Amino acid sequence: MNEPGIRIQYLRGVGPRKAALLERLGIRSIRDALQYLPFRYEDRGVLRKIRDLRAGELQSVEGRVVSAELIERGRRGSLFRGVRGGGLSILEVSVSDATGAVKAKWFNQPYLKKRFPRGARVVLSGTPRTSRYGSSLEMENPDYEHLSGDGSPLVHAARVVPVYRVTEGLSARQLRSIVFQALEGHLRDVADPLPEDVRLRQGLPPLAESLRNIHFPPPGTGIGELNAWRTPWQRRMAFEELFLFEAGLAVMRRELTRERGLAFRSDGGLRERLLRSLPFALTPAQRRVSGEISADMESPHPMHRLLQGDVGSGKTVVALLALLRAVECGYQAALMAPTEILAEQHYLTLKRLAGGLPVRIVLLTGGTAERPLTAIASGEADLVVGTHAVLEEKVVFGKLGLVVIDEQHRFGVRQRAVMRLKGERPDVLIMTATPIPRTLSLTLYGDLDYSVIDELPPGRTPVATELCPEAGKARLFEAIGEEVRRGGQAYVVYPVIEESEKTDLRSAEVGYEGLLGKFPAMRVALIHGRLPAAEKEEVMGRFKAGEIDILVTTTVIEVGVDVPNASLMVIVHAERFGLAQLHQLRGRVGRGRRASRCILLHYGALSEAARRRLEAMRRSTDGFALAQEDLAIRGPGEFLGTRQSGVPELRVADLLRDGPLVEPARREAFALVARDPELDASPLLREALQRFWRGKMELFKTG
Ligand code: ADP
Ligand code: MG
Repeated sequence: MNEPGIRIQYLRGVGPRKAALLERLGIRSIRDALQYLPFRYEDRGVLRKIRDLRAGELQSVEGRVVSAELIERGRRGSLFRGVRGGGLSILEVSVSDATGAVKAKWFNQPYLKKRFPRGARVVLSGTPRTSRYGSSLEMENPDYEHLSGDGSPLVHAARVVPVYRVTEGLSARQLRSIVFQALEGHLRDVADPLPEDVRLRQGLPPLAESLRNIHFPPPGTGIGELNAWRTPWQRRMAFEELFLFEAGLAVMRRELTRERGLAFRSDGGLRERLLRSLPFALTPAQRRVSGEISADMESPHPMHRLLQGDVGSGKTVVALLALLRAVECGYQAALMAPTEILAEQHYLTLKRLAGGLPVRIVLLTGGTAERPLTAIASGEADLVVGTHAVLEEKVVFGKLGLVVIDEQHRFGVRQRAVMRLKGERPDVLIMTATPIPRTLSLTLYGDLDYSVIDELPPGRTPVATELCPEAGKARLFEAIGEEVRRGGQAYVVYPVIEESEKTDLRSAEVGYEGLLGKFPAMRVALIHGRLPAAEKEEVMGRFKAGEIDILVTTTVIEVGVDVPNASLMVIVHAERFGLAQLHQLRGRVGRGRRASRCILLHYGALSEAARRRLEAMRRSTDGFALAQEDLAIRGPGEFLGTRQSGVPELRVADLLRDGPLVEPARREAFALVARDPELDASPLLREALQRFWRGKMELFKTG
């Protein structure tokens, strides 16, 4: 597609003003216009008799112009209050067929009058309503089309019509005309970036045919099929986008696997000592995943692996084994967490687990007063646990060999890249407890190898989850009292720290006071993100030691916090939390042998989405099932937050709807890149790829 790469101004009817508006929609070239696909369709193909028109429904009629009258008023014309700008006008056109007449009105477009000479045959598409005077129907700003009788194609009416997202100053009709122009003049120049063998194997139509039919579907195409994005042409465009996406990942992956990195070979002294000191044996899944990581670390290429495991599946010890392997080989290793509290937790956990080993562990967060920079630079610190403070320029490692990033969904691809610069291509292991459906992980993490811990350590009983409306609060207090008397501990999570005028949310501070009053004999404490790091650490330490019965908190404890004796989780305003967050929070209990409960306290009338989230929580404790449900409730865009993640936005494909296309697109793309790494045989694809990934990733170093 070479010629269509020319600027949109060169299209007939597009001047600098329109070009500027189009640019806001991302349309700079004629190709962009061709690829600007409708987001829905209107069926204007069925023509109604005027007599049969019904108010409030989108309908089309065909008739002849009986009269066209322009009513103009000055600025102060009271009739036109509310219509903006000077020179206010209404154009009233009356159209009739054999059964009756209907009036059409256009505001402030006096120039339209000459398009409606008496006797002209027109089609109007619009939603009529009963006029203010009398019972006749009128349409405001209907779309229209003249029937010339010379067979020239219909664009705006009397057919299935594409509807595009527009911007202020550019009407749907204008945009439709522009796309039509672009198709008429330039479709034949469109070259298909999808290699033909791939296209044929997948049974997909060519690009030009697809574009034409997506914009202006041929007669007989079902409106339902179009709006559900089910036609072969639409599927093809979704496939093409996923193919470009996966091909980009394939190229990146290939680059990564070609790099030389560190080969960690060692006798495993530290690891063996760790395993001997653990109070449990690794689960088969932990052993398998550790093996996969070991193989990566031993190979001379840098590791880029994603480790997924549901909340509580035991990722920490797997990570520690990897960290120790690096240390055994004389390297430093870093463990990064998304929040200070989690970094502190990890720090304490590692110190506890590896306490007896000759390994020096340091903590580095934005909040630590004394920063162990010298020890990190000299290589004295073996393990560095920290937040993204670790990425700061000041932090120089003596000999960094491995980076483990926990909860990667909060870090972006870019940060992964920065981390790589910190060492001589250290190995990278990314851990996430936010399970995402396979189709998503193939796109979001598609440049990584993938390991999953798919079983929980033995002896866990699934957390029993119940919903509790505000009216049932008494029962909730009973549950807290009961659990603590039995020797358990409880979390009570609030969405905000303090009450404010802006929201009517219950807060942790007020909740804390309430619980103190309610349970004078129990040990109640409050923790939240605004406390100084030392104080947070102190409170968490006491909770962990069993010296606190009820911990009132905000989402600072969302991830990672590990207190096996905690057996009750109360989430206040559960309706306000996302599904992934609820699952994470619930994951703080049920970590030991105690049977655990989670109570979701909700206020007010539930929205549909909130009801679905809470129901899903009640039904399932399986993170993968919940992730799938979350995807269904929220839609992939929001679910992914792609804007942050450093991969191109999907504009055509919808991972929920087009999920089944991901695997074949990936298979084809990876096979192609394996055969022809530089894509020398597919210059069009190469060019399309560079365009698609522009600003995200430099795909090909040269050319
Ligand atoms: P997560 O995957 O959520 O990070 P953790 O690593 O925090 O999970 O582990 C959760 C709890 O399970 C911890 O208390 C940990 O000590 C324990 N644990 C980990 N592996 C095993 C195992 N194989 N057998 C029993 N308990 C385990
Ligand atoms: Mg964890």
